[in-house]
Amino acid sequence: MEKGMISVDKWSEESQVYFLTHLHSDHTKGLSSKWSKGPLLCSSITAKLFPTKFPDFDLSFLQVLDIGSSYSLSLVSPTTGLEISFQVTTIDADHCPGAVMYLFRGEFGCILYTGDFRWEATSEKALLGKSMLIKALGGDKIDFLYLDNTYCNPSYSFPPREVTARQVVNIIASHPQHDVIIAINTLGKEDLLIHISRALSIKIWVWPERLQTMHLLGFHDIFTTKTSLTRVRAVPFYSFSINTLEELNTMRPTIGIMPSGLPWLVRPVDERDYSLGLSLPIFQHTTKCQETEESSSLRKFHQYIYTVPYSDHSCFDEIKEFIKLVCPLSIKGIVSSSSCSIDPLYYLSHLCGPNQVIEQTTKKFRTRKVDESLEEKHVKVVKSIAVEFKKEKNMNVGCLSVRRSRVSVLRRFRRGAKIVERSGVD
Ligand SMILES: [Zn+2]
Repeated sequence: MEKGMISVDKWSEESQVYFLTHLHSDHTKGLSSKWSKGPLLCSSITAKLFPTKFPDFDLSFLQVLDIGSSYSLSLVSPTTGLEISFQVTTIDADHCPGAVMYLFRGEFGCILYTGDFRWEATSEKALLGKSMLIKALGGDKIDFLYLDNTYCNPSYSFPPREVTARQVVNIIASHPQHDVIIAINTLGKEDLLIHISRALSIKIWVWPERLQTMHLLGFHDIFTTKTSLTRVRAVPFYSFSINTLEELNTMRPTIGIMPSGLPWLVRPVDERDYSLGLSLPIFQHTTKCQETEESSSLRKFHQYIYTVPYSDHSCFDEIKEFIKLVCPLSIKGIVSSSSCSIDPLYYLSHLCGPNQVIEQTTKKFRTRKVDESLEEKHVKVVKSIAVEFKKEKNMNVGCLSVRRSRVSVLRRFRRGAKIVERSGVD
């Protein structure tokens, strides 16, 4: 897609429409309460949580996209001035509350931006996301995949979250006289905390801003800000350190639990302070995705600290399964800042590339039928030209067909093969 039309999780570029996958800080860098560049599209949960992160944001810029629904957009080509139409479908990313992937389809081809995602074989949400994606693709493959490559390395292999959640419960239950602190982010890992709460019939302490988020997410009875009500506290990552644990243990016996797929090592910040920091993969979790809870994946790397490989990102095997499903022609990793991030093509190039072209073009006829059934059920039409963005409810499929016929006219040659134009309903 040509520049100047859409941006996903990028806020410094000049575009006509901006998409946000989820509210983690590494995806909102550059976004502020003073935003006025143009419409910002996101899921309903992200929109609901938005004011907690950006209190004075002008909410008239937010446009909510329902997960599992497809929308049609019309923008203006910055180079030709012609109207360009395309479809976007939101797919559950099973990462943190509100996180979605975006599937874009138009004359430019088929582009999938995963944002951060977890692709567990057994998770109900991941299965839902999978069926949404398969339905939206309708047998087509992805031309360009922007991939969450956080763990795109065979070294990163960890079990499903439900297994790790049970391990965390076992750790807490085996320390009945201890206080427990668990490191979490400002969003995410809610399911882990809820699992602990239910399994041990205990409330979980969170800090006041986090309690507000929990209430917005609909969790009213599980979390508290009163330390006297519980011995389990979820604390922000930045306050979780060996120093903190050592200080707490001078008052009460306390253990710390660090849920993360990343390898963590002791990293001296200065002579007096030792924090937990992301390291090169010297210390690695050794579990396999299929591993049972009997074969422990736990590590106690400090007297008071356990690390558990509970992650909201896909492990390598899950990424591989995902790539096999969407068969992209090309992949680009969206994570480049981490010292552990790696170009997805390094390990996965054999699963994508020009070998997919022939199969893809021959499937176009078959897949259009699937597309049409998807549209009848799910399509809502969004009209957006330049900074003007309007969602038109209840527009019928006929209007959409007229719009799409213009797309067909604009279609010419792609990778040397002419795309067969639609006939009939247009
Ligand atoms: Zn994230």
